[in-house]
Amino acid sequence: MKRKNLEIELEDIKGFRNPSPRLEQYETPPELASHVLHVALLNGDIRDNTIVIDLGCGTGILAIGAALIGARSIGLDLDRDVLEIAKENADIFDVEKQIKWIHGDVRQHPFKPIQEKKRTVIMNPPFGSQKRGADRPFLNTAEKIGDVIYTIHNEGSLDFVEAFTDGEITHAFKASIDIPKKFYFHQKKVEETEVEVYRIR
Ligand code: SAH
Repeated sequence: MKRKNLEIELEDIKGFRNPSPRLEQYETPPELASHVLHVALLNGDIRDNTIVIDLGCGTGILAIGAALIGARSIGLDLDRDVLEIAKENADIFDVEKQIKWIHGDVRQHPFKPIQEKKRTVIMNPPFGSQKRGADRPFLNTAEKIGDVIYTIHNEGSLDFVEAFTDGEITHAFKASIDIPKKFYFHQKKVEETEVEVYRIR
């Protein structure tokens, strides 16, 4: 599937009904989600034998996008209600058999080793703007369970992520996304935010 076609499909994903600022719940826009998934595909990180793991999956755009391009995926989130939306989305896209949804906390890492598969983590974790360091357990768990990681962070996070991870950042690119301003300053406006996407292995 072409990137643009994936983006158009993902525009139908239903978002958060009642987003929690504390959990930094905002959706990855379809343009960025399709871009990250497409880069993963081009790098050979999404194949028939790949399990894509979406930590903090929210309403499921990354896990569902991965399924649409042929992967099996797992989405994990702390919030039961958003997992219900993710399931509805998977039903609409007819990929529910390809995806397992797990209610859990990334800090407790509920994953068992899946040796025979390649595990690609693709995630848009909280940036830590509400709770400093909220992105750290995501990076920690991703490193434990993933063979390769795609992760989205605030602009300027490269040095931190490089120092934090034991892996190597092999690719990085920038994008901008609209984030409701309340996640930063408790105001109801949308703010264009620069983000950076890293591939770690
Ligand atoms: N990945 C989704 C949502 C990003 S928002 C998307 O790209 O659209 C970040 C998500 O992380 C939210 O859904 C939030 O509920 C979840 N989250 C926050 N802290 C978590 C934790 N400790 N364990 C699991 N999920 C968590």
